[in-house]
Amino acid sequence: MTRKALKCPECDERDLQPAITELTGSTHGESFAITSDALVCPSCGFKTIPVEKMGEFALRVSDAYREKHQLLTSAQIKDRRLDLGMSQQQFANYLGVGSSSVKRWELGQIQDKAMNNLMVLKTDLDAARENVIEVSARLKQPVWVAGRQWYYLDELFQGSTNTPSEVLGSEMNFLTESFNTNYRSGGTCGLVA
Ligand SMILES: [Zn+2]
Repeated sequence: MTRKALKCPECDERDLQPAITELTGSTHGESFAITSDALVCPSCGFKTIPVEKMGEFALRVSDAYREKHQLLTSAQIKDRRLDLGMSQQQFANYLGVGSSSVKRWELGQIQDKAMNNLMVLKTDLDAARENVIEVSARLKQPVWVAGRQWYYLDELFQGSTNTPSEVLGSEMNFLTESFNTNYRSGGTCGLVA
């Protein structure tokens, strides 16, 4: 299907020509240069986006903003949801938001930082682990998960063959005290299965 030629609305002299060029899009008060299919006036240089490309352009502007501010892009949100094997509705329930929010984010609406943090925490195992370590260190409480995997200071227990119950049963006080000392002195936390 061929497009009906569109007269340049700026100079009214020439028909706009299809071209791939850089266009500026704005969102949340910031501008981003996006290379896109466009219609360009050969006479005055006026540039615009074909109507059918506007949605895609808006999404790319939104993703450029999100990449700059270290927020998940639409595609990343969708990929993470699918990695978890969830529908949009299931993912919305998992996060405690309406399914329309998930739909909008995947279509390009920018999620706020708090919601982004929640999504990262609930979809990324490394982020979840770091959070467990952070919380356990701040509460100064060693923790274990599913009775098998446990988190503690790696300086203390790297290579230890003790089971969690052995360590936590008889040496709880020692562990907590050492944990405090090491955490306060800047020791690192680790995960050992
Ligand atoms: Zn023109």
